Amino acid sequence: MSLTNRVMKMSNLYAPTLKEDPAEAELASHRLLLRAGMIRKQAAGLYSYLPLAWRSLRKIEDIVRDEMDAAGAQELLMPILTDAELWRDSGRWDAYGPELMRLHDRHDRDFVLGPTHEETVTSLITNELRSYKQLPVNLYQIQDKFRDEMRPRFGLMRGREFIMKDGYSFNATQESLQETYDAMKQAYANICERCGLHALPVVADSGQIGGDTSVEFMALADAGEAALVYCDECGFAADEEAAATTVPVTEGPGDGTLQKVHTPGLGTIEAVAAFFGFPENGTRKSLALIAEDGTPVVCIVPGDHELNEVKAEHLFGAYHMMTDEELEANGLFKGFIGPVNLPAGIRLVVDESLRESKKWACGANEVDYHFTGACPDRDFEVDEWADLVTVKAGDPCPHCGRPLSGARGIEVSQVFQLGTKYSAAMGATFADENGEEKPFLMGCYGVGVSRTLAAIVEQHNDENGIIWPVSVAPYEVSVIALDKKGEAFEEAARIADELAAAGVEVVFDDRAERPGVKFADNDLMGFPYQVIVGKRGLANGTVEFKDRATGEREDIALDTVVAQLAERIAGECR
Ligand code: ATP
Ligand code: MG
Repeated sequence: MSLTNRVMKMSNLYAPTLKEDPAEAELASHRLLLRAGMIRKQAAGLYSYLPLAWRSLRKIEDIVRDEMDAAGAQELLMPILTDAELWRDSGRWDAYGPELMRLHDRHDRDFVLGPTHEETVTSLITNELRSYKQLPVNLYQIQDKFRDEMRPRFGLMRGREFIMKDGYSFNATQESLQETYDAMKQAYANICERCGLHALPVVADSGQIGGDTSVEFMALADAGEAALVYCDECGFAADEEAAATTVPVTEGPGDGTLQKVHTPGLGTIEAVAAFFGFPENGTRKSLALIAEDGTPVVCIVPGDHELNEVKAEHLFGAYHMMTDEELEANGLFKGFIGPVNLPAGIRLVVDESLRESKKWACGANEVDYHFTGACPDRDFEVDEWADLVTVKAGDPCPHCGRPLSGARGIEVSQVFQLGTKYSAAMGATFADENGEEKPFLMGCYGVGVSRTLAAIVEQHNDENGIIWPVSVAPYEVSVIALDKKGEAFEEAARIADELAAAGVEVVFDDRAERPGVKFADNDLMGFPYQVIVGKRGLANGTVEFKDRATGEREDIALDTVVAQLAERIAGECR
């Protein structure tokens, strides 16, 4: 641990607490970090970390360092400011968009405040890392990053300047990249665990490459921005947006012959399902869009599922849903679109889940009419079967078939196989075994250090304040003197000193405040253990010990309290 260990007197501690909930804070973490005097906003998305938060952040950083070093990565530090030329070389000067913080120097040269450092690190090793014999190399740094987020919000969750551990590996072969990637994934799981975070590794949308080439670690919290599905049985977890799946479907009504049914004004799935007395899943939802290349497309999914925008983008490029004019121009009627009698020239793309289904209830491409018993290959031709739906809770796990659970998550970190994207664009090559020049295979690995702090608070709090896991607590113990002088005060000071000498990180609440105020502040700041020293206990030779997480209190003999606490804390993950 890089922190010096002296007793911190609460009377000196710079932690301006707030009595009231700050109006701007929606999330528990934002509210409590402000109220506990741990962070202060300087401008939108820009925060100062006050002493308590900074101690916790340094502990998170140390855990990250420890895990990175154990996994064979090496720490370095690169400049935050990056020459825009590198960004032009990689293509990201244009591709990154307005989130990139751009500025120029006195000679009118363009610069970038790094949002990540693929360009910088690639240029750093180019021409110096030359041979396959030197590989793999895995470099990381812990540093402020800058992103001009459209909506900086939720305190440390989405800042414009924030602390990130960013790491980059250079590998000679795909096997080697996979090995480094797997080691980083394990290290990230360890980091979450050691920080007291309940997080799931979630297969991220990794574009067309497919497979597990990117995983996001999602700390489960209702406040999370990401909607997840996960399986308690086999450990599968995925972003709703990215999970590849087929969902069970019910057959539609009827005897299997194609029947046209008058459904006046029933232009929604809900209305059609109610009309036929069928679950929504037994109907077919048709969606009309225009692909990037201008092709009109009708997509069909089970009635109770949504067309997944990310999957659709992979299939159709920058598509858009048809406007009323475009529907009309293509001979389609809103609410009554379907696969049978589809006007010529429209491409029909159907979700994989429907492959075996033979009795579809679907729009009839005629106002106020639906078909029942529509059957693929007999009544219409499908141009393409594809994975189109957004998974939801209750759908079967794509690995083991058990029902998936839903949850929300905060992305705290991500591992990613970049391949040769940057090395090829920037001419970063090495000589392989045959002396042939090849672009490096790269991986990138990011931990949101300041976001991790917020995520921890999001998971560990109650109505009284923060409850720090011992491993990342700003201080492990607070010793609270109930009197401002006399024996109780002296004993409390002595216990604090002895705890510090025994290697425990201690705050001594020496303030001339009422006990109620002290209890409230110590609960708010969330120190894991409190030792409360008062005259009454001392008369019996005891002090009170309180576990912040459980709220349990017990009397401990004065002469064993230091040894007991020191032992307990040494036993916690540190
Ligand atoms: P998001 O989707 O939340 O914008 P991202 O996927 O763009 O994040 P990465 O490029 O993967 O972020 O960055 C690595 C890590 O940095 C993220 O996993 C997250 O923990 C953290 N991070 C990213 N953006 C921010 C931000 N604006 N404020 C705080 N932390 C951030
Ligand atoms: Mg990410």
